[in-house]
Parts: sequence; structure tokens; C-alpha cells
Amino acid sequence: MSERKYIIGVDLGGTWVRAALSDEKGKIMEKMQEKVDISSEKAISNQIVKIVRILCNKSGVDVTSLEGVGIASAGPLNIKEGALINPTNLPFDYVPLTRPINEQLDVPTFLINDCAAAALGERIFGAGKGLDNLVYITIGTGIGGGAIVDGHLLLGKDGNAVEIGHITIDYEGRLECGCGKRGHWEAYCSGRNIPNYVRMRLEEIDEELKRQSLLFKKIKGELSQLSSQDLFEAAKRGDKLSLQLVEEIGVLNAIGFANVINAYDPSLITVGGTVALKNEKLILSPIRKYVKNYAVNRLPKIIVTPLGENIGIYGGISIVLKLKT
Ligand SMILES: [Zn+2]
Repeated sequence: MSERKYIIGVDLGGTWVRAALSDEKGKIMEKMQEKVDISSEKAISNQIVKIVRILCNKSGVDVTSLEGVGIASAGPLNIKEGALINPTNLPFDYVPLTRPINEQLDVPTFLINDCAAAALGERIFGAGKGLDNLVYITIGTGIGGGAIVDGHLLLGKDGNAVEIGHITIDYEGRLECGCGKRGHWEAYCSGRNIPNYVRMRLEEIDEELKRQSLLFKKIKGELSQLSSQDLFEAAKRGDKLSLQLVEEIGVLNAIGFANVINAYDPSLITVGGTVALKNEKLILSPIRKYVKNYAVNRLPKIIVTPLGENIGIYGGISIVLKLKT
């Protein structure tokens, strides 16, 4: 058998599955992405097997020389079974991953939460090199986090530690989260739920201010059509109402970040996810401005991840690299 030295990193999201083949040091040699095949629970593992074979073919690497397949996926997970349990963004109750992939490829296959993987990826490849205390936070369709504390990646009993999107930031529970509970951070500040926050606030805001706003004109008063990007685009054009709402969302984000800082005491927080990556200044400035009002611990550096959209793939590769050492 040939020497096992290549690694596959997989970033499994609700819409896309992204994957890359890397060398033993984690240098990416080939990359691809496809829409997630949601025709059945089994289709997803079959799709990953197919992608692994394509990546190997394109790079002239034999499947037998793969050291491992590391899958970074949104949860909730059962890491012992290597499966997703009632995943919030896929239409199945149970999605087995590591066993069917290992059976078909005969390659060690690992699964961890995508944000935990991202924290690991940040530490090995990104801004977290040499740091023992760092947190990764994603503000995208949902909100999630991964934490390395005293050099240890936090996983939890089922692999769902640091599910910070479901921290309660509003005890009155005005908005309902995708998980079914009320008042969670994600219910106010994630890409999917920012429109709910804006709709709620527009009912409370002065009618005149509302009618004059660029945001209201942009969506022609059709509040059901509102997207989070409508809000950020109107704010970038200087719309007063939109800037106010972005600032309010920033205060809520600052509360979330402060909870994280008080809980994990990191020296660095890196931020990813499409909402943050596309609107870096509008998201990060209010967090940096307000976080001190809520955090007790010495503040960490807060920056956007230098790994951008590839952080999930690097996370997947990192799982295999870490388990080897
Ligand atoms: Zn929730």
C-alpha cells in the first residue's frame, strides 16, 4: 500500500458542500463544490464519497494514499456516531456520515462541528497561529462558534459545545429562533433572522421616519420581501433608519460577544460568515464600540478571519492534521 499522506477537508453546509484535497502540510491542491444532494439521508455520504474520488482523480492521487477525510458540518451532531441529529438546515432527522464514507473508501473519516473545526483551522492556518486561547464566531445564515481554551478544542459530550447562537440575549423572548426557543442571539442577528428583527422594529418606529427611509422605498413597503442584505445596502448608502437598525443589531452582537469573552477569556476572536464578510465595517464597528459595556474580562483582539470562505475546508483538513499529531 502507498504511503498515506494526503488529506480531504469537507465543509458541509445547508446549501453547499465544499471540499479540497491537500498535501500532508495542509496545502490545498484541488478544490470543488456542489449543491448538497438532499434526495435522501444516504445521498449526502454518497455525494462526499463521489467528491473524494473526483478530487483524487484530478490530482493524480490514489484513494489508498489518503490519510483521512475531515468533515466540518453545522450541527447538532452526535460525534460518537459520526452523524447529524435533526440538523437545522437539512430536511432529515438523522444523517449518518463517517461510517458509510469509511466503509466505501476505507479511509479514516472524522466529523466535528463546523465552527469547532474553523477554530482549529484558524489556529493552524490563519490568524490564530501560536495562540492557546481563541474563539471563532460565524455570523452567516446562522450564528455559531468554536473555542480553543488553554490549547484544547472544546467539543462537549455530543460535540455541540459553544453553540453560542442559542445564547439568550433577550429574556422577554420577542423573537423566535429557528431552534424553536425564544430570545436567542441567532433569532435577532443572523442573516436568516435579521429581517424578523427589522420587521419587529419597523412596527414600533415612527411612521414618518419609516416612510422617508431608503430601506422602506427599496422594498416598496413590502416588508415580507426584506432581506438582511437590503438593510446593509441601505445603510451603506447612508440611510438614517437603516444605520440605526444596524447599530441596534450591533449592540445585540456586542452582548453576544461579551458573553463569549466572559465565558472563554480568549486573546483573539476571528469572525467569519457571509453577513460579517460582506459587511465587515457595519458588523464589526458596533461590536468593538459596545462590547466593553458588557464584558468583564480583558478584551481580545476582534478581526475578520483571513481565511474567508475557505475556513470550513481548512477546518476539515485541520481535524485530520490534529488527530495525526
Ligand atoms: Zn435557538
